[in-house]
Amino acid sequence: MAPDRPTALVVDSDSATIAVLTGWLEAANIAVRTAADGREALAAIKAECPEFLVTDWDLPHTSGMELCRWLRSQKLPRYVYTILLTARTDSHDLVIGLESGADEFVRKPINKDELLARIRAGLRVLALESRLSLLAQCDSLTGLWTQRTFFERLDRKWSRAPYKQLPLSCVMVDLDFFKRVNDTYGHRVGDEVIRRVASILKSNVREGDLVSRYGGEEFCVLLCDRDERIATDWAEQIRRLIAETSIAVGDRSIQITASFGVAQRLADTANPDELVDLADQALLVSKGVGRDRVTAYQTMNDSGRVRATNSRASALDGIVARDVMTTIVAGLHEREKIGRAVEYFLQLRINSAPVVDDDGRLVGVLTEKDAMAILLWPHWWTTTIADVMKKGVVTYEENTPALMIYEFLCRVSVRSVVVVDRGRPTGVISRASLLRWFTNSLVARGESTGLEGLLVTTASAQGAKQRITEIAAKLAETAQSLAHDLDVDADALAPRLVGGASQVQELANDLLGYSRYLHADRSTGNAMSILAGMDAGRAMQAFNADCLTGNGV
Ligand code: GH3
Ligand code: MG
Ligand code: MG
Repeated sequence: MAPDRPTALVVDSDSATIAVLTGWLEAANIAVRTAADGREALAAIKAECPEFLVTDWDLPHTSGMELCRWLRSQKLPRYVYTILLTARTDSHDLVIGLESGADEFVRKPINKDELLARIRAGLRVLALESRLSLLAQCDSLTGLWTQRTFFERLDRKWSRAPYKQLPLSCVMVDLDFFKRVNDTYGHRVGDEVIRRVASILKSNVREGDLVSRYGGEEFCVLLCDRDERIATDWAEQIRRLIAETSIAVGDRSIQITASFGVAQRLADTANPDELVDLADQALLVSKGVGRDRVTAYQTMNDSGRVRATNSRASALDGIVARDVMTTIVAGLHEREKIGRAVEYFLQLRINSAPVVDDDGRLVGVLTEKDAMAILLWPHWWTTTIADVMKKGVVTYEENTPALMIYEFLCRVSVRSVVVVDRGRPTGVISRASLLRWFTNSLVARGESTGLEGLLVTTASAQGAKQRITEIAAKLAETAQSLAHDLDVDADALAPRLVGGASQVQELANDLLGYSRYLHADRSTGNAMSILAGMDAGRAMQAFNADCLTGNGV
């Protein structure tokens, strides 16, 4: 059967009728499959959706009309043009047949010319339908797939042969400083630039690859059968083509550049979203370190790529990840249970921890949020950490310039990255750690933060003592009201007790947090500043959230 011929499923209990119809349709270049009753027909349509259904009205098991009704209730990959064969002539019957979803009738005894004319009419309808559905799947400005179609098609490829065995790479592309193009030359010129880039992408991919307009001036490309190295070379070639393209506007010409992120599907890439997310993270690094460049996800740690690009960055000159990170003393083992991890979080007052394998190598990160997400599962307590943790962790080597990590955390939704030394986690850098590092470096340099009126410094034992008095009073009040509230029935007691005790616990922790500041050493110049109004305990909590074990910077 030639794949480009339309297919008709012919359903009739009479084998002689089937033979005649098959002969006529095959001669008209329609591929024919057959079924002897409604049940067989349902199975045949489910197995492979035909373009036409040509079915007798009266069938054993499921009638032709029921078959039509079922067909219209299904979400099939295409519209099936349906012709009912019937000896009935009553207009009431015909109305019922049409209402059930049939497109046409052919009266029995069947006239060959009439049947083939109906098939040709059906072909016209199907051509129109496929044009419309293609239009809906494509972006109107560029003709590329929309983001939605991109994911639908990628989903289909993801787990099916031959793509299951082939390397798949994703390339995210974002035009640089595109707002300026719109602002300077107007939206219509901006549109033309988007179209030109789309056409460069489209004319440089192979059959089976997917090119989509992901958003405004962002594109996402799936390259089949190409690993990250080859996909990176491809992206580099496209980057050069875009940079060399001039777009004429009146008597001037515009030149633009684009940034790229490349990622390959790895054994632990769970789904298409994750692959695109990895490429997106790499793209953000390209943006962060200067634009007009290609970053491959697996080589994001290649510090040679990074250059300080502006004076703001000078504060981080010569600073590497090791200087900014909060040290990790121990990680969670991937085979441990979630219950154990939750205890660990609560004891250390942290909200995430790296997960390691038998060799101490980083295999993922477990956060409070991951543990929360399964709390309503029946056996969440004994669920293994490896089943819940996030695997696509962003890691940097200890000697990565801190500027690169700063730029990355400024742009992405990821809140922290893990620092590794030859695969073993040694530290964590979060937005909070960077903020703290900047504040500490100001204090260490004796510069004014301009916030002195708002700040209680760690060196101010007086300020700490005052907060301790306030918290102790609040603790007494909370404990007292808890004692009064216990006179309720058994059902309400447990939640009230747990809630009240948790508040008491929080306040007690705040007291402990402040006790550290009573002994603060003024001479280190490494004092941590806390905004007044934020409890020391909460500050310690934020602090510990990064340091995982309480060993601060
Ligand atoms: P960056 O290098 O950081 O990517 O800078 P940028 O200016 O490109 O920043 P951003 O991605 O935030 O801005 C994208 C702009 O693209 C914003 C929006 O006005 C413009 N845009 C989005 N869709 C279209 C479109 O269909 N046509 C035109 N002309 N402009 C669009
Ligand atoms: Mg953008
Ligand atoms: Mg942009």
